[in-house]
Amino acid sequence: MNHSSPSPISRRAAAIASSATLEITAVAAAMKAAGKDVIAFAAGEPDLPVPDDIIERAVQVTKEGRGRYTSAAGLPEVRAAIREKFAKDGYQFGADQVMATAGAKPAIYLALYALVNDGDEVLYPSPFWGSYSEIARSVGAVPVAVPTLPEEDFQPDARRLEAAITPKSRVLLLNSPNNPTGTVYSRETLEAIAAVVRKHDLWVLSDDIYDCLVYTQDKFLNLLHVAPDLAPRVIVINSLSKSHSMTGWRFGIVGGPAVVIEAMGRVASQVSGNPNTISQLAAITALRGKVDPTRVASLNHRRQVLIRELQSIPGLYCPVPRGAFYAFPSIKSFLGKSYRGHTVATSTDFSKLLLQDQLVATVPGDAFGAPDHVRLTYTTPEKDILEGVRRFKAFLAEFR
Ligand code: PMP
Ligand code: GLU
Repeated sequence: MNHSSPSPISRRAAAIASSATLEITAVAAAMKAAGKDVIAFAAGEPDLPVPDDIIERAVQVTKEGRGRYTSAAGLPEVRAAIREKFAKDGYQFGADQVMATAGAKPAIYLALYALVNDGDEVLYPSPFWGSYSEIARSVGAVPVAVPTLPEEDFQPDARRLEAAITPKSRVLLLNSPNNPTGTVYSRETLEAIAAVVRKHDLWVLSDDIYDCLVYTQDKFLNLLHVAPDLAPRVIVINSLSKSHSMTGWRFGIVGGPAVVIEAMGRVASQVSGNPNTISQLAAITALRGKVDPTRVASLNHRRQVLIRELQSIPGLYCPVPRGAFYAFPSIKSFLGKSYRGHTVATSTDFSKLLLQDQLVATVPGDAFGAPDHVRLTYTTPEKDILEGVRRFKAFLAEFR
């Protein structure tokens, strides 16, 4: 008789890794709650407050009793505000071409669910936001990471992309400014990618969640700006998580071809229903307003402090991120070395020991397909950035 009980979990669910970032953030939060002085460079979550007018609007609509079911794609007035926001960004979508979702994460899931069949390939430049591979797998697709290089400023290379394409390639996911590298795709990069997309009839998901966080002279551009002829194949995804600190409010927006939006809404109507109605109504205020420039200035200042400090560490190579809110130094010269009698073989070992011994939480590059790197989020007060880097330096000084 076989005593080992088979797992009740489906092969599909068993194949999904949980979000390393959320896991590390939870461990760091539990350590903090236990009284440990942890400095967290982990979750990509702004520490700045949600703007007052949005909070006031949420309170008002809650008191008015408006928290009822809506259509899965969002209230008509919310969809109208989404269209206006996209029009300000430079793309015109019709009323049947936009929807609201519970954040960018479910938007990516629904879009892939709508577009891919089992075994289709979903491509994305790597390093990549760790959820892309897992969302792709969860809808039965095969994730394909296409390398980018630090010496090329992590700009995606169209030739490498084209070399990765097979008859099964279906969707390309693009994310600029990029999590985790901070790279802002250039016009040349996007034009070259557009040519590959046209030639191979790919669908594109443009994850523009960091579009308002560009700190240099670069202008935010996505594929639709440089190749408007591709509109029938491009789905634009955004959310209020990073631009308005509304991470837990769960509100995202999507614009794209009506046939895909219809399928996404139909699936959402059966699996999740509408995004939170209070968040939808409060989001109108955010969508019609402007992103507060002092937010961007505050993050930019902290970017400069963190990069200056990291670049002063011998042996650590830290490219300058131009957007988003992450530093992504290479720890290659430390891997394989010994630290207090342990061989630090991987970025996961590195991040674990750094948290355990110096109480500094980072996300290992392993979570982003970049085993030689570690990610630090600079949504932390400046004094914590300085103290965190001091501890980071002390940690590195013990490598032999
Ligand atoms: N895309 C990227 C690139 C992200 O970094 C994140 C969150 N950090 C998301 C999507 C998901 O954001 P949300 O679901 O909170 O809108
Ligand atoms: N996406 C955010 C990050 O990269 C939060 C983590 C997550 O959603 O998995 O830090």
